[in-house]
Amino acid sequence: MDIEKIMLGLEKKHPGETEYLQAVREVLESIEEVVNENPQFEAAGIVERIIEPDRIFTFKVPWVDDNSKVQVNIGYRVQFNNAIGPYKGGLRFHPSVNLSILKFLGFEQIFKNSLTTLPMGGGKGGSDFDAKGKSDGEIMRFCQSYMLELWRNIGPDTDVPAGDIGVGAKEIGFLYGAYKKLAREHTGVLTGKGVNWGGSLIRPEATGFGTVYFAKEMLAAKGESLEGKLVAISGFGNVAWGAAQKVTELGGKVITLSGPDGYIYDPEGISGEKIDYMLELRASNEDIVKPYSYEFPEAQFHQGKRPWEVKCDLALPCATQNELNKEDAMNLVKNGCRCVAEGANMPSTPEAVEVFHENKILFGPGKAVNAGGVATSGLEMSQNSMKLNWPSEEVDDRLHQIMIKIHDTCVKHGKEEDGYIDYVKGANVAGFLKVANAMLDQGIW
Ligand code: NDP
Repeated sequence: MDIEKIMLGLEKKHPGETEYLQAVREVLESIEEVVNENPQFEAAGIVERIIEPDRIFTFKVPWVDDNSKVQVNIGYRVQFNNAIGPYKGGLRFHPSVNLSILKFLGFEQIFKNSLTTLPMGGGKGGSDFDAKGKSDGEIMRFCQSYMLELWRNIGPDTDVPAGDIGVGAKEIGFLYGAYKKLAREHTGVLTGKGVNWGGSLIRPEATGFGTVYFAKEMLAAKGESLEGKLVAISGFGNVAWGAAQKVTELGGKVITLSGPDGYIYDPEGISGEKIDYMLELRASNEDIVKPYSYEFPEAQFHQGKRPWEVKCDLALPCATQNELNKEDAMNLVKNGCRCVAEGANMPSTPEAVEVFHENKILFGPGKAVNAGGVATSGLEMSQNSMKLNWPSEEVDDRLHQIMIKIHDTCVKHGKEEDGYIDYVKGANVAGFLKVANAMLDQGIW
């Protein structure tokens, strides 16, 4: 496989789509060996086909704000690959959303979903809508307008969206209400639904819980446990919240949180009511974690900085893409961090990942580490199909088992001769093989 030739062709077709091109290059570099060993993949053009989405919907989302002014946003849905199941992936509502970001997320989702062992293809969608400072009525009208266009292209066996940045329980409720009205059916077309109307218990916590279950396995592979470990977390959203809960439950101490404006360092540990307070902060639609340090004076707020400068044993980036660069990675290594597990999607830049690998730091990529979110969405789809609800212990136990399996799969495909586990390679190779073989079976489409 000639990676440079493929990348050159892709860059020509999609100039400036940096996040998408970054994600594709990372996967191609990992799977090069396995593609070269399997000439049937090249003959069937698997790589050239898997890196392009099946289709993309782009649409206008007009809505009326509280001052009766008409606002117009852009909506997208990228249906990337459905070789092993219906398209599945979240919706992101954030002003930074563009096609490059959604294509990178949709592409990553193919391999992540494949790793979960559940039958789900890859997709992603969203809009450049900014919920900050918007009333619930405005958010509802936006969601209704977004769904007015999207509903014809999704369905429980076609494409099943979920939440992501800026799309939580409230937005899923508004989107589902609109879908139900338009389609005149009550089906499992979205996941992350409220527990009273088809949602699964543990789904809100699942990505964070799964992240910590995966990190626990990474440490265990080195004979270590989470007990007493200092843990730096970034973000203060859904994933960070779930991760903080599970770290605390398993005996670790969370010492940081962050927002776009800076980070909080709390030497006494972020647990109990402090974790509950994160939900308030998130729901406030404000972009600051600063109020935390007013509420809990023992904590310090570091304006404009990222948490990767503190001394920690384990780092869990849970905010957004490219939030941990080479310098941050070098700081983590210097300060004795031994394990980095990505709760967010692609939070570490390629240069940062290189630093981790060079220094033999345990590094778990998002597509494996945070797969617990979509896995639990898959469990929600199963419950919807069977028209029943599992108790939270059952969902949590299934999630835990899935994360252990994903970890084992990464070890199987990523263990090097000296015993170091290249989780990036392990996740990419395992995720790719399943989808590539399904594509081979199904002919050219
Ligand atoms: P949320 O919107 O709930 O939270 C994201 C958090 O990160 C917000 O607190 C946001 O603040 C903050 N943030 C944004 N930019 C920065 C920055 N530059 N530095 C620090 N913090 C920042 O989203 P989620 O928790 O759902 O998602 C977080 C990450 O996890 C994303 O990468 C997402 O793709 C990934 N993910 C989420 C899953 C899920 O189930 N929700 C599943 C798998 C992956 P603000 O809102 O003020 O910008």
